[in-house]
Formats: sequence, C-alpha cells, structure tokens
Amino acid sequence: MQDLINNLPKLAKEKHNENKTFFKKLSKKPPKQLDYTMQELHDEEFERTDCLDCANCCKTTGPLFTDKDILRISKYFRIKEQQFIEQYLQLDEDNDYVLQSVPCTFLGADNYCSIYDVRPKACREFPHTDRKKFQQISNLTLKNVAICPAAFNIVEAMKNRIKL
Ligand code: SF4
Ligand code: SF4
Repeated sequence: MQDLINNLPKLAKEKHNENKTFFKKLSKKPPKQLDYTMQELHDEEFERTDCLDCANCCKTTGPLFTDKDILRISKYFRIKEQQFIEQYLQLDEDNDYVLQSVPCTFLGADNYCSIYDVRPKACREFPHTDRKKFQQISNLTLKNVAICPAAFNIVEAMKNRIKL
C-alpha cells in the first residue's frame, strides 16, 4: 500500500487530462443511474481497501471543522469550544477552521483515529465517492485522486464502467 501511496501523485498527474475530459463530459450529461453506480463502485472499492492500511488523508490533508464538529468534539473532551480551537485549530485563507498541522493530531501510530466516533463530518465523508450528484464535485475529486488510493481506483473504474 505504501508504494502505491508514494506513487499516487505521479499516477494522478499522468491521468489528470484524461480525468478532466471525462468529468467535463460527465457533468454535461450525467447518466440517470449515476448515484446508484457510484454507490456500487464505492462499496466495491472499500471492500478491497482498508483505510487502516493507509490513513493518507489524515497524514497529508486534514479536514475542515464546522461549528457542529467543534461543539461535538469539545463536548467529547469536556472542554470549552474556545479552548479546543486554541489548542488544535487555526483559520485558513477562506476563514475556515482547519488543523494547526498535519499529520492530524488525532491520528494514532496504528492509523486509528482517537476521536473516531465524533470525528469531523468531512472525515466521515472523505473521499466523497458515494455522494449524490458526484459530477458536481469533479474539481475536488481531481485533487483527491492524488491523495486517496481508493478515490484513484474508483475514478479508474468509473471510466471503464460509464461510457460517455
Ligand atoms: S479515505 Fe482514502 S486516503 Fe483516506 S485512509 Fe481511506 S483510502 Fe486512504
Ligand atoms: S480527525 Fe480522525 S479521521 Fe479526521 S483527519 Fe484526524 S485522525 Fe483522520
């Protein structure tokens, strides 16, 4: 798995133009069954890929923290929201709360998340490959294929399965 992760930025770069063209066509004319197909491709991929062997998203990017995330996680730690913010977060250029540093401070050496049950919504949903109207997040997906081996494989499978 680590070899694939190390090689992923290069592989994603090689596929970038092909993926861009595919997503452009997809957004112009998304197939009626797209949500269903994406759910299938997502489930098939995550039967093969175990995030505990990877954790590359937690190591290299880190999520946005919404107000609800901050409230839920502060409660879990039994500290005030402001204290949680000061200890772990910073504002990015879009004025969103993000981690002060990566790898994520809540990631263990065994790749387990120490706040798994209360983790941010963005962590629960990453890499978003089972979301509805998948064609609407193609720019994000073009970036995610360089980070997430599962997203990379899902996009490759999409191009084989969906003929545009
Ligand atoms: S979501 Fe993707 S990048 Fe994150 S741990 Fe799972 S396979 Fe790795
Ligand atoms: S909160 Fe948990 S799931 Fe989210 S980036 Fe950190 S370690 Fe990963």
